[in-house]
Amino acid sequence: MAYPFERLASGFRQLEATSSRLEMINILAKIFSEATAENVHMIVYLLQGRVAAPYTGIELGIGEKLAMRAISQAYGADLSEVEALYKELGDLGLVAERLCSGKKQMTLFSQPLTVERVYNNFYRIATASGSGSQDLKLRLLVDLLNDAKPLEARYIVRIPLGKLRLGVGDATILEALALAKTGNRDFREKLERAYNLCSDLGYVARRLFEGGPEAIENFKIVVGIPIRPALAQRAQSAEEIIARLGTCAAEAKYDGFRCQIHKKGNKVWIFSRRLENMTDMFPELIEGTLKQFDAEEAIFEGEAIAYNEETGEFYPFQVTIQRKRKYGIKEASEEYPLRLFAFDIMYLNGEDLTGKPYEERRKILEDRIKRGDVLDLSERVIVSTAKELEDFFESCVERGLEGIVAKDLKAPYIAGARKWAWIKLKRSYRGELSDTLDVVIVGYYKGRGKRSQFGLGGILVAVYDKKEDLFKTIAKVGSGFTEEQLREMKKLLDEIALPHKPARVVSKIEPDVWVEPKYVITVAADEITRSPNHTAGWDGERGYALRFPRIVGWIRSDKGPEDATTVDEVIEMYKSQKRVEVREGEEQ
Ligand code: ATP
Repeated sequence: MAYPFERLASGFRQLEATSSRLEMINILAKIFSEATAENVHMIVYLLQGRVAAPYTGIELGIGEKLAMRAISQAYGADLSEVEALYKELGDLGLVAERLCSGKKQMTLFSQPLTVERVYNNFYRIATASGSGSQDLKLRLLVDLLNDAKPLEARYIVRIPLGKLRLGVGDATILEALALAKTGNRDFREKLERAYNLCSDLGYVARRLFEGGPEAIENFKIVVGIPIRPALAQRAQSAEEIIARLGTCAAEAKYDGFRCQIHKKGNKVWIFSRRLENMTDMFPELIEGTLKQFDAEEAIFEGEAIAYNEETGEFYPFQVTIQRKRKYGIKEASEEYPLRLFAFDIMYLNGEDLTGKPYEERRKILEDRIKRGDVLDLSERVIVSTAKELEDFFESCVERGLEGIVAKDLKAPYIAGARKWAWIKLKRSYRGELSDTLDVVIVGYYKGRGKRSQFGLGGILVAVYDKKEDLFKTIAKVGSGFTEEQLREMKKLLDEIALPHKPARVVSKIEPDVWVEPKYVITVAADEITRSPNHTAGWDGERGYALRFPRIVGWIRSDKGPEDATTVDEVIEMYKSQKRVEVREGEEQ
């Protein structure tokens, strides 16, 4: 049974208006409760402005020019009229809605839109390529707009423009699916496990609708579909790591980018930390895997880093990162060839290895890799004391590495989660927090005095509360920006501005402009303090805040809002900062 698009559009409108996460879940659950196994994945993707999971590389996107032409054709309005309305309303979705309602009186809607038809047209738009593709995209969009009702037109235009801005995250969708299908929000955890094994929300939803909760409990890894990566907690000292893990492995921490490599016969896939398909970017890694990895089927992971064969040294991150490119791949791979330091294996010849202890996985990895020019193993030692760990850490730092990652010998591979099975220890600077935080921008201030010329004086930032699936504020940041960055940021943030507080943001302070939680930026600070102004880790009286926060670097394209530093991590950082203070006090 087809799903009327009108119903989905009205759900979108409710989602847009709500500023409560709970209500968001209820609206979503209602939407899902009317879906079927045939269309639930379409709804899940459309909610996120997509037509397929990110790993497929199929991205839905059109330019504003094309959208304006489509609106003009569908509603018989001159382009200049569309442009003028756009200036007035600031949103092409609203322009389409307005022009469509003008047309409404004259037309009888003979063919109501269905989710299936909208999805299929969008899918064709996303996959159209080559000559004539612009015309095809235009036709497909006009086709939908012709049969749309005004509210539907609003979303038909916003979705491919990437302007849906409903603020629903992965966990929000999973919780709503759990509620809709099992009546129990707690089933979200089981769905999360399945999602961690395949990183495809649409697929998880379909399996749930087809096979019920059982299908989710028996969910299996598939070669070619990426697993969500295991993440590391952080520590301030070697002592802290040994206190937690006892005897453990310490691996060199390479400062490159993470690659998850899948192999099936002669076919190889490479996925990024965010699980984008990067296969075509790294021909030497494909060749290296085929030559040096001995398995019919495998999924393994490592850090890729550009390597200077002449001097035998690693290039800095700024050089390595240039390899993430769409053009000039061959030249770049010759100039800055990559080496991959493999550190884990999750799947081998039909067997899921994620449940096996690290030590066993490492042995399997060592057996399968023929160490050579392209693939190598991460350097590691087994340590039992803080002194041994410290010595290895120092030797890594001396050689220009970032630090170490300690690993619990007995822990399974915990997909998609940041647990104490892996603990990172990085170079640190005394007097400052030894690690930076990745925070989500949720609003901005317009700026006074000198800054008023940029229209942006500072940003309000939040960390992610994973348990509650909410963003909680931790600081206002006004330092560290260059003038160019202030201008650029204002532009980016205006594109995602919202008329009210986003539903999943919890804040005690009100910025001049709220924005959709979308961009993650790295900030450094002197310390974490308790404060009544911020909601991160709120205990009824105070939350946590950053003292002297400043941005370092720029918006992180490799992290989405739910990949930001979590409230739990902030609390851990706060605690270990206290421990360091106490120790320093003792030393005096
Ligand atoms: P995270 O990936 O933890 O969210 P991040 O992207 O800021 O944070 P870091 O804090 O620098 O990265 O540390 C974690 C990353 O270190 C891993 O995701 C991985 O890419 C990299 N890494 C380098 N060497 C290793 C290793 N031997 N074992 C595990 N990870 C490693």
